[in-house]
Amino acid sequence: PGGDTGSDLRRRRLTVLSGPSGVGKSTVVAEIRRAHPEVWLSVSVTTRPPRPGEKHGVQYFFVDDAGFDRLVGDGELLEWAEFAGNRYGTPRAPVVERLAAGVPVLLEIDLQGARQVRRAMPEARLVFLAPPSWDELVRRLVGRGTEPPEVIERRLDAARVELAAEKEFDLTLVNTSVQGVCEELLALMTNQSPD
Ligand code: 5GP
Repeated sequence: PGGDTGSDLRRRRLTVLSGPSGVGKSTVVAEIRRAHPEVWLSVSVTTRPPRPGEKHGVQYFFVDDAGFDRLVGDGELLEWAEFAGNRYGTPRAPVVERLAAGVPVLLEIDLQGARQVRRAMPEARLVFLAPPSWDELVRRLVGRGTEPPEVIERRLDAARVELAAEKEFDLTLVNTSVQGVCEELLALMTNQSPD
């Protein structure tokens, strides 16, 4: 406090939301998209096929393997990772542009991506979204009904690894209510309070 330059403050407006698959990150993000246009949500590129209701350019940009390779090769991704058999990445240019304009930016990405952002932009604030309990996480992941059993298994394996990484984050929000988490996130992103 006191020693921040304007550009520190702007870069600190980058918030990363991460946490195990099934914890409710996309529900939180959907609520922010609906109710908080003052936050800019990064739209990731993925090789995963769209789920019912997902639209190209809204939840993700859906690309094939060759398209993803091209983005990686051209250095257009701020970070990228393979998750449960598909690749996901954050287009760099739109993030940099919004931050430069002073707009709060939210990235919803996996643990490997969060680590890359920490290295690339140490000022970013890393927020871990935790389930109320492991049983609740399993229930949500199975109950979503969008993935076949072997995919759920892979996601549960990933979730075990991701839960163990909580301590690497700047803070944890427990997802007991979507509304509550959104409010806390918004407060974090729009106040320039110290960590
Ligand atoms: P889903 O397939 O359920 O939409 O996403 C699977 C995982 O990929 C989630 O943990 C989500 O946070 C993560 N993810 C989504 N976009 C990105 C991205 O651009 N980069 C990284 N590293 N992970 C992402």
